[in-house]
Amino acid sequence: MHDQFGTRQQAVQTRLQQVGADALILFPSRNLQYLTGFYETPSERHFLYILPAVGESHAVVPALAVEQFTTTVANIEIDIHSWDDATGPDAALSQAVTALSLADGHLLVDDSLWARFTHHLREIAHEATFGLASEVLSDIRMRKDAAERDALRRAGAAADQALETIRSLGSDAIGLTETELAHTIETELTAAGGSGVSFETIVGSGPNGAMPHRSHSDRVIQPGDPVVLDFGTRVDGYPSDQTRTVVFAGEPTAEFKTVHKLVKQAQQAAVAAVSPGMTAGEVDAAARDRIEAGGYGEQFIHRTGHGVGLEVHEAPDIVSGSDTVLEPGMVFSIEPGVYLKGQFGVRIEDLVVVTEDGCERLNTTDRGWDC
Ligand code: ZN
Ligand code: ZN
Repeated sequence: MHDQFGTRQQAVQTRLQQVGADALILFPSRNLQYLTGFYETPSERHFLYILPAVGESHAVVPALAVEQFTTTVANIEIDIHSWDDATGPDAALSQAVTALSLADGHLLVDDSLWARFTHHLREIAHEATFGLASEVLSDIRMRKDAAERDALRRAGAAADQALETIRSLGSDAIGLTETELAHTIETELTAAGGSGVSFETIVGSGPNGAMPHRSHSDRVIQPGDPVVLDFGTRVDGYPSDQTRTVVFAGEPTAEFKTVHKLVKQAQQAAVAAVSPGMTAGEVDAAARDRIEAGGYGEQFIHRTGHGVGLEVHEAPDIVSGSDTVLEPGMVFSIEPGVYLKGQFGVRIEDLVVVTEDGCERLNTTDRGWDC
C-alpha cells in the first residue's frame, strides 16, 4: 500500500512544483483518501493534512483521532500536530504552518474545505495566496490505475446483479411506493456484495421521472408507468452509478416508446464514440445530435456524463464543447436523458472505462424498458 500512496503523493508533489504551489491542504475528503487511504466524514474539529511541494507531510489532528489516523497511514511519514478540545487547534495549526514556512506561500486547499477552516488558514497564513486542490489533483485522479478499475468493475457488477433482481419483480412492483422499491434496491445492493449506497437512490415513477435528481417519494407505482431507476453502491471504496428506465407491467404510451428508443440509440452512439484521442465534447455531441435529430433536444437538459472515481461525480465532464482528450484509464458515465415535464423521464446510464482502442462498459444489463 505504501507504493500506491507514495506514487500518488510523488505525482502530486511534482505537479505542485510545476504550478508553483507550496502545499496542498486537505481535510477528510476523497482527495485525502486518494493520497493516504484515510477517510471519514468531516466534522467541526480541525483535521488538516498538508503535503508540501517538497519534503514530508504534516497533519493537524484532533487528539481523539490520532490513533485512528496514524494506524491507517502507518506507512506514510507524517509530522503530527495534535490538539485537544481544551486547548483548541490554534497552536497546532500555527506550528504546522511555521514548520513548513507557509505563512506567505501559495496554498491549494481541498475544494470542499469548509469555510471555517479556510478562514482560519487565512488568519494564520495571512500573507498566503490560495487556490484549489483540483488544480493538481483532478488531472491525476482522472486516470484510474488497475486496482481502481478493478474496484469500479466489481461495483458495477454488484449494481447489475441488483438490477436484474429488481427487473424480475415485474408486476410485483406495481402497488409499491417509490420509497418501498428504493429500500428493496438497497437491500439487493448489499446482497450483491456492495457496501451502502454511493448516492441517494432514485426511483422516479411517471411524472416524477421528469425531475432527473428527485430521489423517491410515497407515490405508488402504477401499471404502464415508466420508472427511472438510478442507483449505486460501493465496493472497496469505489462507487457504481447506472440508470435504467423500465415499465414493470402494463402498456406505456406510444410517446414513451418513441423517446425510450431514441435515448437508447443516443446512449449507444455515445458509447461507440468513446475512444482514446476523442474529446469529451465529441462524445457528448454523439448523444446530443441523435436526440436533437429525434426532436427532443430541448428536453435533454444535462451533460451526457461525468467522471467517476472515489467520488461519484468527478473529472472529466462529458459535456458540450469540452476539449478534454480521452485517454485509456479514464472512467465516466454515458447517460443521456429526455424529460417531459408532468409526464415521464427516460435516462439510460452505463459507466465506461476508456481502453486502448475504445471502451469497456461496466454495466451490461438489458437497456430495454420491458421487464
Ligand atoms: Zn446515475
Ligand atoms: Zn451518473
